Amino acid sequence: MQVSEVRVKLIENKDDRLKAFCSVTMDNEFVVRDIKIIEGTGGYFVAMPSRKMSDHCDKCGGKNHLRAKFCNNCGARLPDERVRKNGKGRTKLHADIAHPINSECRRKIQEKVVASFKQELEKSKQPGYKPITMDEPDDEVPEVVS
Ligand SMILES: [Zn+2]
Repeated sequence: MQVSEVRVKLIENKDDRLKAFCSVTMDNEFVVRDIKIIEGTGGYFVAMPSRKMSDHCDKCGGKNHLRAKFCNNCGARLPDERVRKNGKGRTKLHADIAHPINSECRRKIQEKVVASFKQELEKSKQPGYKPITMDEPDDEVPEVVS
């Protein structure tokens, strides 16, 4: 599998670790959107599209993010200990929607995406630069059960 195109939308907020959203085309025929570029302590890395893990309210069955303290559907207080820990004792709040299953593929995608991001950064310093238009993901909107 080859990465054939990367589209990069830079994020303006300079304080945030999130630097850009990308859409990546594989083999000229499959597109993955909402890939994020994050600035980590060891440099830039790529975060695959993910969704927030959620569970259901005991009272009404409403769906809530694991960090929610109250049900967003009925307002009931939710138990504090709902967050499952993974093997490393870290709280797992997100699950990948699409991701490479081996490190070779992850490296290939990451190299291409980060290189495209750096190119876009350089372009953005030139006068008259216009960022590409891309829908921003809105995974912050909770689902309400009717
Ligand atoms: Zn509820």
